[in-house]
Amino acid sequence: MFAVAIDGPAGAGKSSVAKAAAQELGFVYVDTGAIYRTIALHVLRQGVDPHDAPAVEALLPAIQVGLEYTPEGQVMRLNGEDVTSLIRTPEVSMATSACSAIPAVRAFLLQLQRDLAEKNNVLMDGRDIGTVVLPEADVKIYLTASPEIRARRRCLELEQRGTPEPFDQVLSEIQQRDWDDSHRETAPLRQAEDAVVVDTTELNFEESLAALLAVVRG
Ligand code: C5P
Repeated sequence: MFAVAIDGPAGAGKSSVAKAAAQELGFVYVDTGAIYRTIALHVLRQGVDPHDAPAVEALLPAIQVGLEYTPEGQVMRLNGEDVTSLIRTPEVSMATSACSAIPAVRAFLLQLQRDLAEKNNVLMDGRDIGTVVLPEADVKIYLTASPEIRARRRCLELEQRGTPEPFDQVLSEIQQRDWDDSHRETAPLRQAEDAVVVDTTELNFEESLAALLAVVRG
C-alpha cells in the first residue's frame, strides 16, 4: 500500500486540493478532521464541555464512528447516523479543537486511521499524520498558507454552503485553532522533519493541485 500524509493548519486547502489530488491518483482520500469532528458533535449533543477531558473520555465507549467512501467522498456516521454535513459548523470546529487535544480521544481514533492506511492506498490529511499516525508514510507533505488567505477561502466555502460568516470572525477562529492545534501536548500540529512544504498562499486551486501532485510523483 502507498500512503501520502498531508498535514497543515486549518483551511490550507487540505480538503479541497488534497481530495482532488487523491482522485487524480486513484487513492482513498481520508479526511481525519471529519473523524475528530464526529466525536465533537457527539460531545456537544450530550451537553458535555469539550474541554472537560474526563467527561469527554467517559463518552467514548458509547461512540461508534463509521466511515464510508462514496463517489461524492467520505461519509461520516455517528452511531449509524449520517452526520457528514452536520459536522461542518463553526461551533463544531471549535469544539473539535478542544476534544482533539484530549489524549484519550486521539488514542481512541489512532487504530481506525492506521487500519484505513493498511487496507487502501491513501492520501490522509490531518494534523499529526506524518508525525504520529503514519510515521512511515511514503510521502509527507506540509500544506500551508497565510492565515488571511485561509480565512478568505473558508469564507467563500461557508458562503457557498449558504452559511456565511464575517471575515474577521473566521480569521480569529482560524488563528485560535492554529494556536490550539500547535500548542497542545499530545500530537501537536507540526511539520514532520521529512515533510515537503507546499505553501499555497500565492497559488490558485489548479496550481496547488499541480504542486501537490508533483511532490507525490517525485
Ligand atoms: O481538518 P479540520 O479543520 O476539519 O480539523 C478540525 C480539527 O480537528 C482541527 O482543528 C484539529 O484540532 C483536529 N484534528 C486533529 N488531528 C487530525 C485532524 C484534525 O487534531 N489528524
